[in-house]
Amino acid sequence: MSIATAVTLGNRFARELPEMAVPWQAEQFPEPRLLVLDEALAADLGLDPAWLRSPDGVRLLVGATVPDGATPVAQAYAGHQFGGFNPRLGDGRALLLGEIDAGGRLRDLHLKGSGRTPFARGGDGLAVVGPMLREHVVSGAMHALGIPTTRSLAVTATGRPVRREAMLPGAVLARVAASHLRVGSFQYATVTGDTGLLRRLADHAIARHHPAAAGAEQPYLALFEAVVAAQADLVARWMLVGFVHGVMNTDNMTISGETIDYGPCAFMDAYDPATVYSSIDHGGRYAYGNQPVVAEWNLARLAEAMLPLFDEVQDRAVELAVAALGEFRRRHDAAWSAGMRAKLGLPAGLADDVAAPLVEDLLTLLQTKGVDYTSAFRALAVAARGDAGRFRGLLPDPLAGAWLARWQALAPDADAMDRVNPVYIPRNHLVEAALAAATGGDLAPLTELVDVLADPYTERPGLERYAAPAPEGFGASFQTFCGT
Ligand code: AMP
Ligand code: MG
Ligand code: MG
Repeated sequence: MSIATAVTLGNRFARELPEMAVPWQAEQFPEPRLLVLDEALAADLGLDPAWLRSPDGVRLLVGATVPDGATPVAQAYAGHQFGGFNPRLGDGRALLLGEIDAGGRLRDLHLKGSGRTPFARGGDGLAVVGPMLREHVVSGAMHALGIPTTRSLAVTATGRPVRREAMLPGAVLARVAASHLRVGSFQYATVTGDTGLLRRLADHAIARHHPAAAGAEQPYLALFEAVVAAQADLVARWMLVGFVHGVMNTDNMTISGETIDYGPCAFMDAYDPATVYSSIDHGGRYAYGNQPVVAEWNLARLAEAMLPLFDEVQDRAVELAVAALGEFRRRHDAAWSAGMRAKLGLPAGLADDVAAPLVEDLLTLLQTKGVDYTSAFRALAVAARGDAGRFRGLLPDPLAGAWLARWQALAPDADAMDRVNPVYIPRNHLVEAALAAATGGDLAPLTELVDVLADPYTERPGLERYAAPAPEGFGASFQTFCGT
């Protein structure tokens, strides 16, 4: 099969927003070798997995060949990084190859680690096998958990060593996303001072992600409201599963509402709102418990960037933007509370002044005793079936007994709990072990981990070690890294 029959790539972003798209080519790599491929995702995109595994397919997955008509580009964007504004970030080591039409929905096919671009600044434009496989594993797990996310189609080793703290094997990640539009994309367009560009960007975003906004009285305000809603729902989902993104800069927050940029992310082990894994997050700005506030802060930056588009309402623009932003907290809190009720299997219609303190008191107990967040909820479902031993083992505290009695009096639904509380998450110690093996050439632990994480809610015999908390002493020193 020729590349032309195997894949068609549109160039809608490059055509509609040329000011934000620098045509560019991937670096040529000596010896591309496919490491992992998400065959189900390939099939969803209408791509033949067997072809992707062929030499021509692998050439596409590192950008060595693209079909005729495709226009690979490095995308320009700005961003607040740890609160400081940078007007020119952009794809320093990534390329948008183009869009795939998957049954009427456009999906970006994008490469990360494909070589230096005009946005590379001091960077080498490259990526390393370990961190790219990490994105593959964690984004796959997020998808299986039902959380909106950018996806990893494949990770391909390049054959080119990359200089980091040591020489490490290089890789390219082929990422699939509803788009790569970010809050930082709007910030970039605004900084140019070209309101026409900003408007075109907003029109592009409406068409691709929030088409209902087009019919609203104030389409751009409606777009902003739709992003607020999507991010409120997304961050609530992160909080409910204990996901710590780690680098919620405005260039790492999508307009689509998908999770993006799996750099220093990690799943929390012991419950603690102050949990930080990123080696560079000294102030804890992106700590687990701060994520809703940071998301709201980022959306305020989006509102500022979009303000010139709210001119239909002129002197009321700021007032309306503030009102729209205010919806974030309400919607996030509602989504989180509903999610927590589900995690505890609480009956529908239970009064808030019963449910809310029950949740708060449990979280306080988990925090004081450093209990593994994920295990606690599965153990509670076992308790709801009549055996409180597992939960009491995790939380040997007399207060836990009193809490259990209060909760059990509400007749929690154990089966409903098991449908929303994962057994298997990408636990840091397992991910690290799988990446170390893969970097050394053994992909078996990683492949098995990916398989386990593809079905996170069904407890299976023989997989106990995938459900177990980190071994004693692992968590205290665990750190994650950006941009490696
Ligand atoms: P991130 O922290 O992944 O969101 O990246 C922030 C910015 O740094 C983006 O503009 C990236 O393209 C850029 N960047 C990260 N790593 C590299 C690298 N190795 N080479 C060039 N640019 C990079
Ligand atoms: Mg980024
Ligand atoms: Mg990154």
